[in-house]
Amino acid sequence: MSQAVLETRALTRSFGGLTAVAQVALTLVIGELHAVIGPNGAGKSTLINLLSGDLRPSSGQILIDGASVGGLPAHRLARLGIGRSYQKTNILKSLPALENVRLAAQARHGGGRRLFQTARGARDLVALAEAALARVGLASASDRPAGQLSHGEQRQLEIAMTLATEPRALLLDEPLAGMGPEETERMVTLLRQLAADHAVLLVEHDMDVVFAVADRLTVMVDGRVIASGPPEMIRSSAAVREAYLGEATA
Ligand code: ADP
Ligand code: MG
Repeated sequence: MSQAVLETRALTRSFGGLTAVAQVALTLVIGELHAVIGPNGAGKSTLINLLSGDLRPSSGQILIDGASVGGLPAHRLARLGIGRSYQKTNILKSLPALENVRLAAQARHGGGRRLFQTARGARDLVALAEAALARVGLASASDRPAGQLSHGEQRQLEIAMTLATEPRALLLDEPLAGMGPEETERMVTLLRQLAADHAVLLVEHDMDVVFAVADRLTVMVDGRVIASGPPEMIRSSAAVREAYLGEATA
């Protein structure tokens, strides 16, 4: 079995008296799309915030390549190969698509690092940004102001911005939110392609999409994992149906 890029053990985060993420164990491996589902308030975004270093755990462990990294800030985890997209958009709308991606690459590779202050370094960043845009299918949109892209294209752009940080694990919080059927289909194809050479964690509400793309599902309710396994196992789990799926798919 391939080594986990990212793993959590008994990961817990409380906000005052509320435990948003409780004792969560999760494993992300390259080549696998791992979907995390659960009703609103289940703790999905909090889990992503913990894995990306945007929030510190209250207790429990986060491991990258088997080494404990809990408590490290987001920029350190980014350097260790953790990339994320946000539920709310991060795009600078007046700037061209390519420039948005280049800035994301620069932030990750350190504007301060001398390598990228040289002419050659600057070209490397542009090349990285162009490759990321091409990967999401936006090569022809590179000069367009990001604000003029369609909603779906802006979500693709956000993924390109994440890819430009050269992550091994991609944490995607509802990348399909607000998309029409065609945009959804394009994004689903992209997610499958990305999962070939990344460890992907996908938070998504649309159960048709989730069951179509996921290799593995983890179901959260009230901060806890109530089930985790391959889609067929989750679909037939009585506990999951009762707690969540039954109402969602009825
Ligand atoms: P989901 O993404 O599954 O909808 P969240 O992780 O956003 O759920 O939220 C889980 C729970 O934690 C909710 O009850 C939410 O109100 C609470 N929560 C999330 N972030 C904070 C915060 N920064 N401060 C206080 N409570 C929070
Ligand atoms: Mg959320």
